[in-house]
Order: sequence, then C-alpha cells, then structure tokens
Amino acid sequence: MTLRSIDFNHPVLVGRELEYVSEAFRNGHISGDGAFTKKCHAYLEQALGVPKALLTTNCTHALEMMALLLDIQPGDEIILPDFTFVSTVNAFVLRGAKPVFADIRHDTLNLDETKLEALITPKTKAIVPVHYAGVGCEMDVILEIANRHGVPVVEDNAHGLFGKYKGKLLGTFGVMASQSFHETKNFSCGEGGALLINDEKYIERAEIIREKGTNRSRFFRGQVDKYTWVDVGSSYLPSDVLAAFLFGQLEMREKIQTHRQRVWEMYQTGLVDWAREHGVSLPFVPAHVEQAWHMFYLLLPDLDTRQRFIQHLRERGVYAVFHYLPLHLSDMGLNFGGQPGGCPVTESVSDRLVRLPFYNDLTSADQELVIDTIKKFVF
Ligand SMILES: *Cc1c(COP(=O)(O)O)cnc(C)c1O
Repeated sequence: MTLRSIDFNHPVLVGRELEYVSEAFRNGHISGDGAFTKKCHAYLEQALGVPKALLTTNCTHALEMMALLLDIQPGDEIILPDFTFVSTVNAFVLRGAKPVFADIRHDTLNLDETKLEALITPKTKAIVPVHYAGVGCEMDVILEIANRHGVPVVEDNAHGLFGKYKGKLLGTFGVMASQSFHETKNFSCGEGGALLINDEKYIERAEIIREKGTNRSRFFRGQVDKYTWVDVGSSYLPSDVLAAFLFGQLEMREKIQTHRQRVWEMYQTGLVDWAREHGVSLPFVPAHVEQAWHMFYLLLPDLDTRQRFIQHLRERGVYAVFHYLPLHLSDMGLNFGGQPGGCPVTESVSDRLVRLPFYNDLTSADQELVIDTIKKFVF
C-alpha cells in the first residue's frame, strides 16, 4: 500500500485563471495596471464597498504603503498583536517606528482589546489589528478607544477577506486595510496583495506612492498632461499576468468560500468530541462574527504534545504545521525590549497551536484520513 500524503497547502486552479493569463498576453499588456488589474480593483471595490482598492505586489507591500501614507516617523509607536506575521510589524519598523506588542485573547487569538488602552501613549501613531484565522477582532471596542485617542486604525486583513464583524465586512473598519493573495491564502496568485482605502483622503497619495512617487495614474486618466516625480514612492504594482490569475480566483468567490466552509465544518464536527475528551481546544468564533474560513487549528495541552502530534501526523503522511512565534521574543523583538512573560497568552498559544491541512480542493476522503490519523494520536 502506498501511503497517501496530504499537503498542508497547495495551489489550486478553480476557474479560468490560465485562460485569463493568456488573454493578458493577447491584450499586449502584462506590466502593471492593465485590464485585469482594473477588473480586480473593480471587483474588490464592488464586493467590499470600499472607495478604493489597489493591487499590490504582496500584503507586506500594502502594509509598507500604509506606513508611508500614515507618515510614520522614527520614534513613533505602533500597537499590534504579538501573535502575527513579521510583515505586520516590519512595515512600520522600516520607517523607524517602535512596535508595542499587545497580548491576544485566549479564545479568538486576536489582539486583546481590554489590554489596548493601557498601551497607548502620546507617541502612538497607529493601531494594527489582525483578524487571526479570518475571525474578526472586537472592532467596536478597538475603534472606540482609537477614536477617543485620535489614533488611526489600519487592519491587517490577510486572513479575513469576506469575513464580517457584526454584519460589516472585515477590511472596511480601519482607515486602510491590507489583503494577501499569497499561495497560502483563500484567494491566490502566488504572490500578491491589495491595499483597501476607506478614508478617501489617502487615495491620491496611495496611487503616487505605488507608482514610484509619480503622478502617472493621474496622467493616464488625463488629469495632468505629463507625469513626473512628486513624492517618495516605490513600485508596488503587480504584473497584469498575476492580476489575470487572481481575477480567475476572485470571480470564483462562491465556489472557493463554500468549499472552505465545508472543510472547516467537517473538521469541527469530526473533532469536537475527541477534542473535549483530550483537553484540546478548537477555534472559537463569536456569534456576532462571520468568519472567512481561512484556517482550522487545534490548541494542544503543551509544547511537547504539540511537537509529538505534528510528528505523529507527518510519519503518516499528513502535513500539519505550527504558526507564529511570539514577536516580542524574536531577536528583533528582544531588541525592542521584549521579555519572557511579556505576552503570556501569545507565549502559551504559540507553543500549542497546530494548523491542519486546508486548501481549495481538499476532498472529504482526504479529510477523513486526516481526522482518523488525528484520533490515533496517543497523548
Ligand atoms: C500572509 C500574511 C502577511 C503577508 O502576506 P504577503 O502577501 O506574503 O506579503 C501579512 N500578515 C499576515 C497576518 C499574513 O498572514
């Protein structure tokens, strides 16, 4: 018998991606801001109801654009959850900001809004919530605190596209939000991202920063008769080849999200009793949140059990992975004054979390195998 092996993630063609890629070539425009980029912009603006969506080369670059647009200066402080990807923090540290790490809630693993206000100082220039696993943060509380202190909120919505908090789409709460279309996300073009702009005052400068600090976007719209260097900037626009691929995925939103919901619910139903019996926690989704079906994870009792569990699955051909390490204890985090015990919930969760295989053509049969293999683990 050959052992069937189940990836943690792999790319999946769900619709007309390759057809659109050839169409981009036939259009004779494969650099940035071609026909498919415009289709993606229109799709995101319409589906999310945001005033402006701009594709970027990745989510990291969308976050870098936010830091530029917020005019983050050396010495400014930004508050973000300790349990997130390095790009959430790096984008601001690149501008000289000092990161202030907030611990997370033990249930949703999102920034703990009850710890937020104590971290705000006169130097705080942004709060960056991350909707972990596509489950919305407590945005009412976060925005109320932020508004009272006059601090802008920008969302890292890499996991949360099409998720909702109290009926409102994630990515529409902050003055801006970032999306990721990396291979591991729900919708992908390999490497890609988007900046969503909710506060219109950032739109014009965002277009300039994304286009090497020039007013080229205005030139193409016929609003100025030549384009020139007007501000700092970089090149944050993806090739139209990638936009073509991405549009092929975005237009299959229903199919992708319905499939992912099925995957998530099958894990939940298949593992709930086993989890209760063994002291394992499953993801928690508050009743007022509609999640984005990005990820399914388990929280095992301790680090040793988690490591043995991942090994147990791997030996049987099932690839499950851990996730973020606490940022405050990373080499960089320690340089910024991080100390053991500084964010106890993150420290505990990071040791115990394991993510299960999750991709857009994961079959029920393969998922059954994953669930059966999980249940054979000896605690
Ligand atoms: C994936 C991810 C990013 C970075 O996305 P890229 O598109 O790879 O730059 C940023 N933040 C979070 C929370 C992510 O999960």
